[in-house]
Amino acid sequence: MNINALLWLGAGVFAGVLLMAIIMAWYLRRWQRLHTEQLEARMQAQQLELQIALDELAEKNRLLEQQNMLDSLSGIFNRACFDKRLNNELKRSRREQTSLGLVFVDIDHFKRINDTHGHLAGDAAIQQIASALAASLKRSSDAVFRYGGEEFALLLPGTSLAGCIELAEHARLNISRTPLQIGSLSLNVTLSAGCYAAVADANSSSNGYISAADSALYQAKHQGRNRTASASTIVSPIIKGSVNEN
Ligand code: GH3
Ligand code: MG
Ligand code: MG
Repeated sequence: MNINALLWLGAGVFAGVLLMAIIMAWYLRRWQRLHTEQLEARMQAQQLELQIALDELAEKNRLLEQQNMLDSLSGIFNRACFDKRLNNELKRSRREQTSLGLVFVDIDHFKRINDTHGHLAGDAAIQQIASALAASLKRSSDAVFRYGGEEFALLLPGTSLAGCIELAEHARLNISRTPLQIGSLSLNVTLSAGCYAAVADANSSSNGYISAADSALYQAKHQGRNRTASASTIVSPIIKGSVNEN
């Protein structure tokens, strides 16, 4: 074999190897691109699944938080929610210099309903009074809470004492004139209410508002029940009077 033939053979082998290398590199690049695309698609699908799971978790948390704020018997807001909202509304009242109203409502002689008609009838009465109080609210910022057993609190932002008394009286009269229907039972129920309203200042506290409305409620009970009384100050509340017109 002469030198030329050897050179041609070498060149041929080199060209063949080069072609093979180019083809292999092309396939490798293609495989890499496909693989990367598959990986990216899988990652995107996993991200989407993760986002859906996170959204579901957030929704479950929101529902759980909402449930934690609700009273299981009456379906209205509970005491924990009241404490939170009162605190927030106090801050708002102080910030915006608007009057914050608080009304405490207690069912009169409720124990008699339990004793006479049983606790289930008592439960139904609490549910119906809660719904009636909720229906008596006028503004979207007003809220009703089950404060305890047969006691309710109405939180009325931007409401004067006169506005609180008007709303409490409206609800009280409405409930006293509409007997509750519990199965075949028709029950006349009356309420007592205690009102307090003030623009919060640096010294205001939740406890101050609560004790003022509570002392007004105590006064309404003391004066014979089925009426609305009001307190004009927080420290050692002075009772302005009571209203009782049927
Ligand atoms: P007053 O007019 O002074 O408010 O008298 P009252 O009988 O309404 O008040 P009292 O505090 O003596 O009794 C309240 C009763 O409410 C006692 C308690 O067993 C009952 N009670 C509290 N929570 C519930 C409840 O969820 N369901 C029922 N059925 N009864 C309840
Ligand atoms: Mg009572
Ligand atoms: Mg009570």
